[in-house]
Amino acid sequence: MKVLVINCGSSSLKYQVIDSDTENVLAKGLCERIGIDGKMTYQATGKDKKKYDAPMPAHRQAVELVLKELTDPETGVLKSVDEIDAVGHRMVHGGEKFACSTLITDEVVKAVESYNDLAPLHNPPTLVGIAACQELMPDTPMVGVFDTAFHQTMPPEAYIYGLPYEYYEKYGIRRYGFHGTSHKYVSYRAAEILGRRPEDLKIIVCHLGNGSSVSAVEHGKCVETSMGLTPLEGVIMGTRSGSLDPTCIEFIAHKENMSLEDVMTVLNKKSGVLGISGVSSDFRDLSEAAKEGNKRAELALKVFSHSVIKTIGSFIGVMNGVDAIVFTAGIGENDHLTRLSIMSHFSYLNIKIDPYANELHGKERIISTPDSDVAVLCVPTNEELAICRDTVQIVTEKKVEDTVKKVIAGK
Ligand code: AMP
Repeated sequence: MKVLVINCGSSSLKYQVIDSDTENVLAKGLCERIGIDGKMTYQATGKDKKKYDAPMPAHRQAVELVLKELTDPETGVLKSVDEIDAVGHRMVHGGEKFACSTLITDEVVKAVESYNDLAPLHNPPTLVGIAACQELMPDTPMVGVFDTAFHQTMPPEAYIYGLPYEYYEKYGIRRYGFHGTSHKYVSYRAAEILGRRPEDLKIIVCHLGNGSSVSAVEHGKCVETSMGLTPLEGVIMGTRSGSLDPTCIEFIAHKENMSLEDVMTVLNKKSGVLGISGVSSDFRDLSEAAKEGNKRAELALKVFSHSVIKTIGSFIGVMNGVDAIVFTAGIGENDHLTRLSIMSHFSYLNIKIDPYANELHGKERIISTPDSDVAVLCVPTNEELAICRDTVQIVTEKKVEDTVKKVIAGK
């Protein structure tokens, strides 16, 4: 099957075409500055990257351009759009209604719309992207893969906030968690690498990128995660504050004469390691600055590691043990010093890091020594492949269901 995987942001659209039989990426790219001026990137695997300006007033034109590139006689990877068997959409917030991926129907779109309040930056562009794809590929099945779905197995004691219970009942205010597609993919892949079944393991996944979250996965199911109602909660991030005393919000608004919206912008866009360091949200810049003696950059790195250490430690308590700790995403996969500074706090569990394996880059690997009591791994995340796999599964199940219905109806 050939699956088009789409990840829509408010002014961007990332895409990949994956052959699900080989799991090879046939082509990928990015439409940026949608609704502004429009920038297109397209690369067929093994060929040169194309990059050019193109008007994209809305997501529809971006999807049109993607389909045009994919079927381009010279650089395309498809003869026609009909070769796309299914489209998998990355969806951010599926609330409590979606505990797994689903075929996109009108009802599903309505249900996702009802969560727009909870994810105002993420859900609306996704729905716009779906509408654009449906318009241009009306007969192609579409599947929604939700960032929140994997965390729906958390027990109430993990997702209920210490707030009046009616806010949960009336407004759905609770912990949802995000990056679920990555946490699931990485935890299952880690079990495979260890030659064990996910059902037999207690795993902590540290998805550390520009947005960071940590999850506890017990026997293949998520039981706790650090992000909450929105992706602002949890460990400190590139520009997001992570968890803090809610009183800070009132205090900052009062002292800086800011509106609630302005304070929330500060917490989302000007905080985290950027806010602490005043240098950058990027760990490469921070490491450079710290090496050159910038104390605030050094502090930002320390605060980041500390918040991840605290979260891992508490999740070990939640699961009453841990068999494996896995690092993924930009920082988790690439920053060996941050991994080392985090893991050095778990020597009490007889966790030992192999310096050579830790310093390697980009490959799936175990970075703990064979005599370590807990395995530590680096597993590059692959959310697109996870979306492709779910899409194929759902579309195949639907085909089987339709065939059975036809047989029963005697057609
Ligand atoms: P992501 O959101 O997963 O794409 O991660 C992006 C972040 O990963 C960047 O902002 C950097 O902070 C970090 N990152 C990427 N490459 C490296 C690297 N080689 N060393 C340290 N940090 C890195």
